[in-house]
Formats: sequence, C-alpha cells, structure tokens
Amino acid sequence: MGAQCADARKCILVVDDSAVDRITLRAMLADRYDTLEAAHGPDALAILERQGRRIAAVLLNASRLSLSEYEFLRSLRSRQEFASLPVMILAQLDDFDGELRALKLGATDICRRPCPPSLLQQQLENLLLFSEAVALDSSLGRDSLTGLDGREAFYARAGAVIAAGGEYMIASLDVERFKLINDLFGAAQGDALLRHVAACLKDALPKEALCGRLEADHFAICLPRTGAAEEALIALARDCLRDYPLDMKIELRLGLYDIVDTAVPVNIMCDRARMAGASIKGRFDQICARYNDEHRRALLKEQAIVNSMRDALEQEDFLVYFHPKHDLETMRLVGAEALVRWRHPRLGFISPASFVPIFEKSGFISAMDEYVWEHVCRHLRNWMDAGVPTVPVSVNLSRVDIHKPQLCELLLGLLRKYRLPIHMLRLEVTESSYMDDPQQLNATIRNLRLAGFFVEMDDFGSGYSSLNMLKDIYVDALKVDMRFLENSSDSRRGTTILTAVLRMARWLRLPVVAEGVETVHQVNFLRSVGCAVGQGNYFGRPIPADEFRTLLCRGSVGTESFRVPDEYADMEPEALWQASGEFSCLFNALPGVGACMCLLDGGELEVLRANDACRALLADGSGIGEIVLLEHICQTDRPAFLRALHAAAERRQPQHVCCRCRTASGRLVWLDAGASFLARSGERVLLALMLRDMTREKQREMRLCRQEHALARTGGHGAGRLRRGIFRSPARGTEWP
Ligand code: C2E
Ligand code: MG
Ligand code: MG
Repeated sequence: MGAQCADARKCILVVDDSAVDRITLRAMLADRYDTLEAAHGPDALAILERQGRRIAAVLLNASRLSLSEYEFLRSLRSRQEFASLPVMILAQLDDFDGELRALKLGATDICRRPCPPSLLQQQLENLLLFSEAVALDSSLGRDSLTGLDGREAFYARAGAVIAAGGEYMIASLDVERFKLINDLFGAAQGDALLRHVAACLKDALPKEALCGRLEADHFAICLPRTGAAEEALIALARDCLRDYPLDMKIELRLGLYDIVDTAVPVNIMCDRARMAGASIKGRFDQICARYNDEHRRALLKEQAIVNSMRDALEQEDFLVYFHPKHDLETMRLVGAEALVRWRHPRLGFISPASFVPIFEKSGFISAMDEYVWEHVCRHLRNWMDAGVPTVPVSVNLSRVDIHKPQLCELLLGLLRKYRLPIHMLRLEVTESSYMDDPQQLNATIRNLRLAGFFVEMDDFGSGYSSLNMLKDIYVDALKVDMRFLENSSDSRRGTTILTAVLRMARWLRLPVVAEGVETVHQVNFLRSVGCAVGQGNYFGRPIPADEFRTLLCRGSVGTESFRVPDEYADMEPEALWQASGEFSCLFNALPGVGACMCLLDGGELEVLRANDACRALLADGSGIGEIVLLEHICQTDRPAFLRALHAAAERRQPQHVCCRCRTASGRLVWLDAGASFLARSGERVLLALMLRDMTREKQREMRLCRQEHALARTGGHGAGRLRRGIFRSPARGTEWP
C-alpha cells in the first residue's frame, strides 16, 4: 500500500481509516515529505516491519480514535526497534480525553485539526529534529577525551542542523606538528593539549556552534556563517595556544568551508575545510584559509588519480625507471634506484611526487610497490640470463609497507621466484616512516637485515628526528639528498650539515650515498668529505629499463668502495650516541660540569655535541643553537686555550687551561677547561672538553689579592697567607668579571 519513498526525502507513515483524509494529508505534506499510507493499525505495523528503517515518523489521525489505533500505539512502543519512533497524533479540537490517552500510550506530539499545511509541516519538522538529536545523544559516542562529539556524532548532528536550513559553514582546526609534541613531551601532554583546545572551543564559540573531534588533533566545527562567528574562530585559532605552557611554539591551522550546496555530505565538507587548512601548513604568516577553486581542482585531480589507479596496475601503465648510482672514487656505475613513472592514458606522464602521497593515503601504494619490486626482479633476471653485467638495484619501501607483517617473506619470495641473490635487491626506507612509528620501523628493518637485505635510509637529514633515529635504528647506508641542503637559506649551512652528517656516519661506520648530485662541483666536494656513492642528474637522469640495459652493456660497471678510515677503527663509535654509554655519563651525569665533544682542525674548533650544563654555561641556557666555542673565549686567552688542546691531542694526555669567556648574554666568566684526546683522523682530532665555571673562586681570590695589596701598602703582615689562592691572578690590564 502507498507509494515508494525516495531516499533523499524523509518519509512519513500516515495512518488513517479514511481514504479521502489520507489523500488530503498526503497533499498537505507533499512539498516536504514522502508518505506511506495505512488504513489501520495492523496495516501500519506490517508496513513498519517491511520498511521501518526508512520511516522517520508516524502521523496518526485520531479524530475517531478506536481501539485498534490505541492497540497500534501500544504494540509500537512495546517493540524495541520502534520504541523511539516519533508519533504525531492528529486530534479533534476538543477531544482532550482521547489526546491524554494517546499521550499516555507513547504518542510524542499532538496537532489539532483543522490546521494549515505549513503548521503541520513545521510541527513535524521540529519533532524530527528533536528526536534525531535525542537519538544521537544516546546512540553515538562522545569523544571521551574532550567531551566533544566524536566523528559520527558530529557528522550526524551537523547534518541535521544543516538540513534544517540556514546559512552555515564548516571549520577544521588542526594542531601543527602534533605528532612531534607527542614524541617530545609524551602522550599525556598531547592529551592535555587537546583538552585545552576543546575547552577553548567550548568557551569562545557561540552556543549554536557544534564542535567535534574527528580524530587525533583534528577538530571540526559547524557554525552559522556570520562575520562575528568567523572572527571568534580566527581569534580562537590565534590565541588559544599562545601562552600554552610547553617549551615549544605550537600553532593551530584553521580551514573554512562555506556551505552553499547542502546536498554535499558532511564528511566531504569536513575534508574540504581540512584541505584548506592543510594548504597553509608550516606558513608562519597565515593561520586561516578558505576552501577555494584551487583546492577543488586539486581534489578533482586526486579523485581522477584514485579512480584510475587500479586500471593502471592491470594495464601496466606504471613504468619502472632506473636512476644510476656511481662510485665517487672510480666513477663507475655501481647501482641504481628503481623509480616509478605513470603513463596515464588521459593525464600523460605523472611524476611519483604527485601520486605516491595519494596512494599512501588509500593504501594502494602497497600494491604499486609490489608491482615495482616484481618488475625490477624480472628485469634483473632477464639481464643476468642475457649475460649483461648487473648492479644491485634499490627499490623504495613506503611507510605502508613497513607495517606489512609478511613484507620480508614477500621480498624473499620474489628473490626465489626470479632466482636472484639477495645482494641484488636493496631496500630504501624513508626517514619519515620513523616519525610515524619508530618501533615498527625498527622491528621491520631488523627483520629485513637479519634476512640479509641491504637497507638504506632514504632522505636522511630531512626530518627532525635524524639524530634520534640513528641511535635507535641500524641500517647499512644513509642516503642524503643534496637538494634538501640547497633549500636552506644559507648554502654554507647546507655544506656544514652535510659534512657533519658524513662525519657522524663515519663514526657509525655507515656508508653515505648522496643523491640529487647535479654538478661537478658537488662531486668534488663529496669526494673531499669522503662520500662514497653519488646519484643524480650529473650522472644521468632516471631512464627506462632498456636504456639502462644498454648502459650496463657498455661495461663500466663496478662495485662501490665504502671505506672507514683506520684512525677511527679502534674507537667504539656507537658509544657516542648511546644514552647509557660512557660518553653520555660523561656528558650528562656531572651536574654543573659543562661537557662537549669537539673537532680540532688546525686553528679551528667545532663543537659536535654539548650537554645541558655546557649550554647553560656558554649560552646562558638559551636554547639549542650552535655553539661556536672559540668565539666565546676572550681573544687574549684564545692562543693559550688552543695550545692546551693541541697538547692534549699530541701527548694524548688530559690538559687543563684556565681562560675567560663571554657568554651569549655578554656576561664574563672564568672557565677551567680540561681537554682529553678521543680519536684522530688525519689532521683532525676529536676531543672531549670539560668546562667548569670558576668565576666565584676567581672573585674570591681577587678580593683576597686586593686586601693583600691594601695590607702591603699599610705595612701589615700576613699578606702571604692571604694569597694562598689556587690560581694566578690575570695579567695586568685584562678584563675581570
Ligand atoms: P626518492 O626515493 O628520494 O627518489 C629520489 C628522487 O629524486 C627521484 O625523483 C629522482 O628522480 C630525484 N632525483 C635524484 N637525483 C636528482 C637530481 O640530480 N636532480 C633532480 N632534479 N632530481 C633528482 P622521483 O622519481 O620524482 O621520485 C620522487 C619520490 O617518489 C621518491 O623520492 C620516492 O619517495 C617516491 N617514489 C618514486 N618511486 C617510488 C616507488 O616505486 N615506490 C615508492 N613507495 N615511492 C616511490
Ligand atoms: Mg629513494
Ligand atoms: Mg631520496
């Protein structure tokens, strides 16, 4: 009985024994609701049983309420699945007894006839909104951490409000670098920060704003589209974390999406707001962005990529290119990296930089990677069968691969299938996987290396965690991208970073592959600092398999010459980074003693690592910037200071020297510096320095000196006793704190 309901509109079940009345009611509701119709209670129950999920409310004409209608109400309320279904009674103007009876049996609301269609529609609308909100509250979870709506609750509640009409917008709020906050300060601090943001939202926004936490640090807000609401939101994003008590600058990024088309699902609206917010990530000058056409185009492109990726795999539209790696000493071809390319039937050649991140989001990357690995193995087998001299090929593992329990078995299976020795297939894992999940990365790399794979750490030095990572994770080589270094505003800084990375790598006996090598100048520099292997457009661009085969056939193939200088060989390099090792004891366990590790090279001195006390001493505790030790030491005392260091290096015995030093804030202090030899490589010497602040003792001694002079002038005795200080007084005319 009755018409089928269309899905988008809400559906009302009209129960009335008069066919004429049913037609009238249908007409009254037609411009807002679809209707199903039943002549009496049992009929209505039958419809509910069949189509209950689609029915939003029941409209029961009770003008001639009979036993069967009461019975219908009673049985409706006795069944759990219909217990909260709203039931509106259409009553005669003066039938108060009947109304009361219906209400007692569980009717939700009453509308008295006669009434105009608009009144009936509005009353129904209110009833539906109210019951949806109540249903949400009880059925959908609140976020227990913040007390805001959880994802589903937010979507549903915002959806209901938006559907009810009015002008709204959706905002997305993200904490910048939230993961880093969790890593640095712990999850409890991260949670406290999220609660603080939630409290700001509750305090600062108008009452009608709906707030939810969709996941991690991602908040969503649905609020009226007014200038005042937007201003409140921007002020909140700007001020909420301004004085937050964590020793780090924390910022929020706000994305706005104006709702024009209410048919767009709320989750998509949230994605769009978030995309706008993400577009200004890392921008220090902008905290808020609005979703615009550019974002829309990017989303469309992303969608096009997602829509065609599976076909691409089937039709083999992904091509594997090979990027040669050369030994920097012999310049021979010693390896290659496999890089994927997409020959898209409509969009043309697409670079992995545009599709790999999208594949990572959807998890599809894992299928694509396996495709690439298999193609690499197949090529290697073909070349070997044809007697072509081959080199090891590195393939990229994405962060999704790292989590695959069967990863190692899968790779070993490929080697078996193509009968390849394990050294032929090298693996590159990216440093950013460390940020996602350090333990998982560590476990995966350990497994792969145990199985015999050569694992390279890709893009080393691009993240904040490089140093941390090295102490936790053992790999076979580091890959450093020259272009990361060039991007820094000061190219000298880039060179310094690279030199430091290479030195560190040597201590850890890790070979370094430099990629992004584009000029002969870079090649010479890399050679001079002991980098073993280079990859980059200087040697050639990534090329298709057949061209790479030709290159191999040309015959200048070799093996790389990874070397570790002998001078460092007797030293236990890991000790430098172990938290529990001797070095760290040296560094951290001596309260008040500044310790640092320095590299002495002729007249130059570079601080490689300094403990907190050392920073407190020289930099007055001001942050973690680079310490240029020699610049702190007063010019007149520098030669003596350097002499002592050279003596420590030559005699390999600890030396002490006392000198004056100016701190970062301009204070003058006396330092007692003890230098010990650690290791030597050519002209360069690694030293440990212990610095002690002697200013107090020196001041005391000076006071005694002055008293002694005064006594001497007045002819007093005992001056000799007073002068029993430990240190000589400074030369005349020198500075004195
Ligand atoms: P990556 O693994 O760090 O690869 C190095 C990228 O730097 C490659 O870009 C390479 O062509 C480029 N490159 C190397 N030397 C130079 C140079 O001297 N000049 C210039 N201009 N570029 C140079 P590509 O192929 O666009 O790959 C970008 C990123 O996409 C890769 O970075 C990697 O993260 C990802 N990727 C590429 N292929 C795959 C793959 O098969 N699987 C996965 N998971 N990721 C891949
Ligand atoms: Mg790579
Ligand atoms: Mg790289």
